[in-house]
Amino acid sequence: SKTMTFRTLRPPLPLPPVSSPVSLTDFIFSILNSSPPSPSAAAIVDAITTRRILYHELISRFENLVSSLRTRFSLSKGDCALVFSPNNVYTPILYLSLLSLGVVVSPVNPASTVPEIHHHIRLSKPVIAFASSDSAHKLPSLKHGIVNIDSVEFESLMETQSERNEQEGIKVNQSDVATILYSSGTTGPVKGVALTHRNLMANIAGGMRPVRTIPLVTYCTVPLFHAYGLLLSLRIVASGDCLVITGGNRTFDMRRMYSVIEEYRVSHLAVAPPLIVSMGRDAEIMDGYDLSSLQVLISGGAHLSKSTIDRLKKRLPKVQLAQSYGLTETTGRIFGTLGPDETRTEGATGKLMANCEAKIVDPETGAALPPLKPGELWVRGDFIMKGYVDNEEATLDPEGWLRTGDLCYINNEGYLFFVDRIKELIKYKGYQVAPAELEQLLNGHPYIVEAAVVPYPDEEAGQVPVAFVVRQPGSKIDESQIKDFVAKQVSHYKRIRRVMFIDSLPRNASGKVLRKELVIKLLSPTSKL
Ligand code: AMP
Repeated sequence: SKTMTFRTLRPPLPLPPVSSPVSLTDFIFSILNSSPPSPSAAAIVDAITTRRILYHELISRFENLVSSLRTRFSLSKGDCALVFSPNNVYTPILYLSLLSLGVVVSPVNPASTVPEIHHHIRLSKPVIAFASSDSAHKLPSLKHGIVNIDSVEFESLMETQSERNEQEGIKVNQSDVATILYSSGTTGPVKGVALTHRNLMANIAGGMRPVRTIPLVTYCTVPLFHAYGLLLSLRIVASGDCLVITGGNRTFDMRRMYSVIEEYRVSHLAVAPPLIVSMGRDAEIMDGYDLSSLQVLISGGAHLSKSTIDRLKKRLPKVQLAQSYGLTETTGRIFGTLGPDETRTEGATGKLMANCEAKIVDPETGAALPPLKPGELWVRGDFIMKGYVDNEEATLDPEGWLRTGDLCYINNEGYLFFVDRIKELIKYKGYQVAPAELEQLLNGHPYIVEAAVVPYPDEEAGQVPVAFVVRQPGSKIDESQIKDFVAKQVSHYKRIRRVMFIDSLPRNASGKVLRKELVIKLLSPTSKL
């Protein structure tokens, strides 16, 4: 029923007509040039190495890299490039350069194991990879090779003067695929999420400040290979603001984070919820630092509990908490908090972004529900992916709606409240863990008849994966052997944290495993967890 569709309350985005050929890069530079930053303003800073790229350097490096990519590696429109690196000052420049040539950018978590990488490569079919020197060895050989992005060679690609406009003759359409990211969606294994130039343009246009005055300094603690960090970093460049990262493969350190805020006078801190849990829990660590520059804490990617919000507010009462909600499939943020007024609604994850529609659907009856009633969130509009790569079936419904698999409600003012996840997906510290992927591994073990993996709530991580395992009769395989078996094959954040042995998995009449029943078993007072 049409009346139950929530339309955005925001004005339409200033995007070019759909059919005009404009790449995301053209679009970003046109925004930047509409109110150009000082050439000597800092664009991107790595607080670890103190490497600082000024706006005039960003532009010349971008131009040189585009020319090098085209002439040295003969990359052309439609080719796919894997980007396989922890956060790096050059990552946004690399993204912009590849996208301007119509090359599809596919960033992959550098913590991935070899079998995981092979799965990603089967989906995105890259011809080249740009990898950090400590992760490159995990990649197979590719048609146009592997470039180390922290090498002198890569530096020189950005320093060679280009004589002509290398983008000449390349026509990138807004409907062309810009990036392939990875997500398991509501069910099954990891899939390739194809996002178009138009999708990314909408996200960036939707997050622009109405008036640009002094540049903001945003410290992005989240990975640039995830939709959250990727879009945030590009939007910062479009705005002429300063992006601060802590590059390389280090474990996260609270003290270092606070000293980066102090040293660079960070105004905006972008995090995933587990960090806010730690900030509230180990609050005394803050005391030694001057955090007076901090205005806004940006949180997204997973649920933030009320107790965590309360603890944070006590410690940092002047800092605005800007929550956002989104999926890789919605080009990241699709509900967001823009401006100080919108931060005042406690617990909300913001309002629907421009150029989008939403509805809340009763999972049983399929009926669209009115405000304040929880149901599955469906979304449609310029932010929604083109589809999953080579997977028609899992894609959008015929009317263009994406089912999020999240139970939510929308209040009378249009704010979104997240209630629960109804899809299979587990989120560990904001990272996706697909139960189907772990179940496939477990089911391949000779002593396991079958297994199901479900989430268990965890204060720090949000959720951890727990396996229910049916052993072969007579097998004595134990919890630690099963955990090790999985740990050897997957990235660290996907490890099984607990194993429960069970005689058989509960199933419904059509044979589907009743995951909710398993979760209830775990949460019951007699559970050994
Ligand atoms: P990803 O594709 O990795 O961004 O994961 C998307 C999923 O993360 C969503 O479907 C939600 O289940 C969860 N998520 C993202 N943002 C939020 C939020 N603000 N509150 C609760 N869950 C969230």
